[in-house]
Amino acid sequence: MALGLIDRYRDRLSLEPGDPVVTLNEGSTPLIEAPRLSERIEARAYFKFEGLNPTGSFKDRGMTVAVSRAKGRGAEAIICASTGNTAASCAAYAARAGMRGAVIVPEGKIAIGKLAQALMHGARVVALQGNFDDALRIVRELSQKHPIELVNSVNPHRIEGQKTAAFEVVEDLGAAPGALAIPVGNAGNVTAYWRGFQEVDAAPILYGFQAEGAAPLVRGEPVANPETVASAIRIGNPARWEEAMAAFTASRGRVAAVSDEQILNAYRWLADNEGVFCEPASAASVAGLLAHGLPVVEGAARPETVVCVLTGHGLKDPDTALSKAPAVINCDNDLSAVERAVFD
Ligand SMILES: *Cc1c(COP(=O)(O)O)cnc(C)c1O
Repeated sequence: MALGLIDRYRDRLSLEPGDPVVTLNEGSTPLIEAPRLSERIEARAYFKFEGLNPTGSFKDRGMTVAVSRAKGRGAEAIICASTGNTAASCAAYAARAGMRGAVIVPEGKIAIGKLAQALMHGARVVALQGNFDDALRIVRELSQKHPIELVNSVNPHRIEGQKTAAFEVVEDLGAAPGALAIPVGNAGNVTAYWRGFQEVDAAPILYGFQAEGAAPLVRGEPVANPETVASAIRIGNPARWEEAMAAFTASRGRVAAVSDEQILNAYRWLADNEGVFCEPASAASVAGLLAHGLPVVEGAARPETVVCVLTGHGLKDPDTALSKAPAVINCDNDLSAVERAVFD
C-alpha cells in the first residue's frame, strides 16, 4: 500500500514528535515520460503529474503536514484564501482531521470542480468580492485575531510538505533532472521544490512561468488586477516573491510569461497528444517550454532532461475544457446515421 508522505519522509519534515498524521495517502505521484513533448523541445521530457494527488492537486502535499501540525498543537479550525485548489485541499484535510474549515475565494473566479469539492467536504465557503490577493490579506488578519490556523503557503509547514515532490523526482529518475518547468502563482511551490532539491544536493535549472496578465515576477512589480484563464495562477502579489526569485537566480534559471492562448493551446495539445489532462494553470509549464525553449546562462550546457510539473487535474475545470474542446456530434437513433457520424 502506498504510504502518505509523512510516513515516507517524516524525519525530513517539520512535525513535532507527538503530532498526529492527518493523511489521505498523498504524494507518490507518477513521473510520466512525455515522448511527443520530448520531440518538440529536443530534450527528454517528463511530467510530474500532481493532478493524481487525493484532491487533484499538489496542495495536498503541503496540507497533510500543515494540518497534522495544526492538530498537534490543538487547533480546532483552519482557514485559507484560495484560487480553488487550496480550498479543496483544506476542506478535505479538515474533514479528515475532524476540524472545522473555512475558505475565502474570489467571487465567480473559481473553477467549478474545486468549488464542489470545498462544499462537499463541509467547509464554510465564503465568496469575496475581491481577488486572491485581497482574500489572503484578510485571512492573514483573521488568523492573528482568532484561534484559527492559516494554511496558505505562507504557513512554513506547507512548504515543507511540498518539497517532497522534489525528493520523488530525484528518486524516480535516479538522479537530478537538468531542468524543472513549473507554473508560478503565489510562488510557494517553486520555493518548495528548490528547498527539496537542495536537501538532496540537486540543482536543476528552474524555469518558472506566469500568465501574461498575472506576471508580477516577470514585470518586477505587483499587478493590481491580475487576469488569466488559468485561475490557479491569477495572483498579482506573490507571498513568496523574494524566495522564488532567489531560487531562479541560484538555479541559473528564469521566470517568463506565457499568453492565455499559449496556455490553452498547450492544455489541449497535452490532452490530445500525450493523453494527460491537466488544468490550464498546469499547462503553463509546457506552454513556457514550447514558447521559450531551454535557455541557459552563458557557458552552461543545455539541459538534457526536463521535468514539467503538472500541478492539477483537468477535471477540476470542465468549463474551460468544454470551451476549448471540439463539439459533441448529435446523431439520430439509426445505424447508418451513427456510421456516418463515426467514420465520415
Ligand atoms: C496553487 C497552484 C499553482 C501555483 O502554485 P504556487 O505555489 O501558488 O506558485 C499552480 N497550479 C495549480 C493547479 C495550483 O493549484
